[in-house]
Amino acid sequence: MSLDEIEERGAILYAEKQDEPNTHAEVFYNPEMRTNRDLSVAAAKVYFDEDVAVLDATAASGVRGFRYSGVAEELVLNDTSDSSVDAIRRGLDANNLDAEVVQRDARRLLADRQFEFDLVDVDPYGSFLPFLDPAATAVRREGLIGLTATDLAGPAGSYPKVGRRRYGSAPLKNEFMHESGLRIYIKEVYRAFARHNRSFKPLLCFHQGHYSRLMGSVYDSKQGANRNLDNIGYLSFCPECRWRRLERAEECRNCGSSVRNAGPLWTGRISDSRLTSDMAGRIPESWNESKELVDRLEAEADIPTPFYDLHELASAADTQCPPIDDFVGELRETGYPATRSHFSHTGVKTTAPIDQLHDLCREV
Ligand SMILES: [Zn+2]
Repeated sequence: MSLDEIEERGAILYAEKQDEPNTHAEVFYNPEMRTNRDLSVAAAKVYFDEDVAVLDATAASGVRGFRYSGVAEELVLNDTSDSSVDAIRRGLDANNLDAEVVQRDARRLLADRQFEFDLVDVDPYGSFLPFLDPAATAVRREGLIGLTATDLAGPAGSYPKVGRRRYGSAPLKNEFMHESGLRIYIKEVYRAFARHNRSFKPLLCFHQGHYSRLMGSVYDSKQGANRNLDNIGYLSFCPECRWRRLERAEECRNCGSSVRNAGPLWTGRISDSRLTSDMAGRIPESWNESKELVDRLEAEADIPTPFYDLHELASAADTQCPPIDDFVGELRETGYPATRSHFSHTGVKTTAPIDQLHDLCREV
């Protein structure tokens, strides 16, 4: 097997170099996930005061684990494939790192090593669902779990039956489907942890391109899990005027049209602004995409309403689409929290009422 030597943010890894991500590669490396890893590592550095025990349960080339080494007193890297295990060992040598390398089914490994890790990361091909229950018991109290999902078609609404069957939730295919999809993922993680009397609190959840990423803290608290039950609910959306709210409504509070619902899903905060604010200081300015992402996540962390797509808003207001930065600036001047959203280049997060948004589209 011939693998290429690849460098990512100073870490050396061995994988097949590809123009397009290829899941059939012997050792899979997806450069598009670099931003995901940048933010995950920054979150771990901010979250933990000391070096901790870290497991990457689906390690592939090992790059994520190599990059976590800065917070890892104990590092465990697991993958089922011979080629990956070879690549991980080569990478450990090249980076002068120590780790326990394991070659097992990730679910069995997670189930066997209960409460052994402060940070568990699961970045599988496709859905993280099969790993959720064993992962819920592998994390120590007040630890951190990171999950990546690439099975977007179900939760984001392209295949609503898949969403219902796998996640038990009705999705919504519209301009903010990746936010409702992300909220369905969070609900499912919350439920899996609650089954084990544990509480999952989202700290850093976002969507980018072909994946969604969830990171959150884990507590042993029935009370916490009970409290968070209030954050499981529904979302209502009016296709006529684009009104939306994180509650179950029969008709649009703005125009009276009948609404569409999604859920059950997570209706609480999806990121923690204190964490993202501290993370911003850990990400160099030159890491453009990651820097912009963490800044946007911080800005929108405390705005609960699902994001608006400016094109859809302008079209509902029957007018031309205004320049997005002007629109956000005007909204702020009127006193409403407002920011561009990480979910989309044309996305705006705000708590302003929908009729104000229509008016502003016509005025800006
Ligand atoms: Zn309406």
